[in-house]
Amino acid sequence: MFVITGPSGVGKGTLIRGLLERLPELELSVSATTRPPRPGERDGVDYHFLTPEEFDRAVANGEFVEHATYSGHRYGTLRSELERRLGAGVPVVLEIEVQGARQVREAMPEAEAVFVAPPSGGALRARLIGRGTDAPEQVDARLRTAEQELGAQSEFEHVVVNDRLEEATEELAEIVSRALRSR
Ligand code: ADP
Ligand code: 5GP
Repeated sequence: MFVITGPSGVGKGTLIRGLLERLPELELSVSATTRPPRPGERDGVDYHFLTPEEFDRAVANGEFVEHATYSGHRYGTLRSELERRLGAGVPVVLEIEVQGARQVREAMPEAEAVFVAPPSGGALRARLIGRGTDAPEQVDARLRTAEQELGAQSEFEHVVVNDRLEEATEELAEIVSRALRSR
């Protein structure tokens, strides 16, 4: 299992798209969230969109491997997304924030975790604004959280700086291929 973490807007989703193109045997776990869908996001594809009550019920039923609150909404990795694939030997990629990444590493120390860092704080802000999915106050909240998250990068065995996309994608794919070869 591969955990890709790092601040919002750093390019995790973009890098993972490139990773899945290079290594098509990988499958991406679809997370659950209480955040409302953004335009174009599809239930069951981008996220499993749950109400707060449904999310609470899933927590109480032990359905999550990890879950966390981020920018006022809840996010979590469903066991059902992992068990079937890992049981069949299919390598799974998680795209999650730092609190969740810590929980996964506790629960599954064999997971390989990669922290994606921005080349600078200014670049992170520009990407969050440029993505155009978050209102200005959401961008500010995400940048405040990012400061704390950046302080956690030394906890992770791999750090990839996403400066030039092509190079960062290659670096990530190399980390993952090496781990797959050594299984
Ligand atoms: P995350 O999944 O970490 O929140 P995204 O993948 O949505 O981040 O990327 C945030 C924005 O930054 C997107 O608009 C994306 O196109 C852009 N982006 C990603 N990687 C780079 C890069 N290396 N250089 C410039 N822009 C990038
Ligand atoms: P967004 O709202 O931009 O889709 O996601 C906000 C943050 O939540 C991102 O950093 C994203 O990686 C993270 N995230 C997405 N899914 C999960 C999950 O299942 N668990 C945790 N802990 N974080 C998640």
